[in-house]
Amino acid sequence: MTEYDYDLIVIGSGPGGQKAAIAAAKLGKHVAVVDRHDMVGGVCVNTGTIPSKTLREAVLYLTGMSQRELYGASYQVKQDITIADLLSRTQHVVGREIQVVRAQLLRNHVELLTGTGRFLDAHTIAVEGSHRGDRHTITGDKVVIATGTSPARPSEVDFDAARVLDSDEILQLQEIPSTLVVVGAGVIGIEYASMFAALGSRVTVVEQRERMLDFCDPEIVESLKFHLRDLAVTFRFGEKVANVEVNDHATVTTLVSGKRIPADAVMYSAGRQGMTEELDLAAAGLEADHRGRLKVDEHYRTPVEHIYAVGDVIGFPALAATSMDQGRLAAYHAFGEPANELGSLQPIGIYTIPEISYVGATEAELTASAVPYEVGTARYRELARGQIAGDSYGMLKLLVSTTNRTLLGVHVFGTGATDLVHIGQAVMGCGGTVDYLVDAVFNYPTLSEAYKVAALDATNKIRALDRFAT
Ligand SMILES: Cc1cc2nc3c(=O)[nH]c(=O)nc-3n(C[C@H](O)[C@H](O)[C@H](O)COP(=O)(O)OP(=O)(O)OC[C@H]3O[C@@H](n4cnc5c(N)ncnc54)[C@H](O)[C@@H]3O)c2cc1C
Repeated sequence: MTEYDYDLIVIGSGPGGQKAAIAAAKLGKHVAVVDRHDMVGGVCVNTGTIPSKTLREAVLYLTGMSQRELYGASYQVKQDITIADLLSRTQHVVGREIQVVRAQLLRNHVELLTGTGRFLDAHTIAVEGSHRGDRHTITGDKVVIATGTSPARPSEVDFDAARVLDSDEILQLQEIPSTLVVVGAGVIGIEYASMFAALGSRVTVVEQRERMLDFCDPEIVESLKFHLRDLAVTFRFGEKVANVEVNDHATVTTLVSGKRIPADAVMYSAGRQGMTEELDLAAAGLEADHRGRLKVDEHYRTPVEHIYAVGDVIGFPALAATSMDQGRLAAYHAFGEPANELGSLQPIGIYTIPEISYVGATEAELTASAVPYEVGTARYRELARGQIAGDSYGMLKLLVSTTNRTLLGVHVFGTGATDLVHIGQAVMGCGGTVDYLVDAVFNYPTLSEAYKVAALDATNKIRALDRFAT
């Protein structure tokens, strides 16, 4: 029988890798996680989710943005906000999160090997730049690849890590730009565009498609665009970047249409590429697609049966939330532990200012598949809590089946959207109907009460239809 150094080797310590390692350790397995010393916790903790969400919180607090309806348009907690003000909070939270990850691995006797992992064969991995010397070779019975992604960088653009940056580098800006071009209106691009706009930067968003966030409810995306335009964001839809010129003081972005946009800085957020180049996949009998992603089956198994892949490196939905569960399920499958599949009802959260969240179907999807539904809407300004919080623009929309009164979708825009959505998710997940929300008593005053208001709106409309029929 072959003896391996570890039952499981995990490459990458982001959410997918961490949870795979912990799940295997809880099953009594001997586990090692490999990652670079400055990347413990992955993109999630170091350059992606955690820094961007902390930055957002700092922006909201320091600008006093969410209090302006109450105290006036010029209200600001700190007058001259500097990049140092923003980064101190971000660095604090990132530092604490890294400690949490390290402590969790340690507590569960998972060995953290620092370095870059590369396959020598399907069970053997070289860890280069490791703390045990320049190169260290380890063997594992099972392997989980959780190497995530890095920002795609178009070859025609010279990234200088100072004025022309990708989204992983944006926190290296030396000062808050007065003007900023954001290339790409995907989730990451539009989140950062809204944060810099809230800080007072004049932001131009360039997007080659004609629309943005087209997987979301169009009414909510319109509301977001209205808000961002109000914060001096200019949208250039249907436009492509031809090139970006940069000198010591500024940049000029030239579009294929001939428009030239001067700005202090440019942030590229035009997709991400699977981090598989350094893995030497061929040595393990694997190959990635043209975007560096790996193919897996329903158990997160690659074509080489003992090698699993989870998280962003396998593509959609590429979220921290799903990556964690994929890691856990891959480890369970690898060691024969029975587990339920991942629930199909997964929420989407977009941390723009204001934020967006939804679960279930959109109106466009229901209409395309000819599913009859009614809409129930609650506006935050009709809720006492909305008035108290100074949020008059927020809204919650329920899509309700007119056939059996089940909830088909929940769409939220405004304060607390990414938390509020889970109430709808729970009702939908348990097969609940709109009547549960009509009959339930909610704390008052809360934003959750929006569910009741929207449910009453939907049921009143359905009742009007029923009356007509009788
Ligand atoms: C700006 C931004 C904001 C985001 N916001 C959200 C959000 O609000 N909510 C959400 O759910 N998701 C968000 N995401 C997505 C989320 O960060 C990812 O889905 C998640 O981090 C993916 O986890 P992962 O396990 O694939 O690994 P990652 O977090 O991508 O980490 C991969 C790790 O693998 C390591 N690695 C790569 N190659 C090697 C190698 N050869 N050897 C050793 N180690 C290697 C890397 O150093 C890295 O540490 C955001 C992403 C970005 C960029």
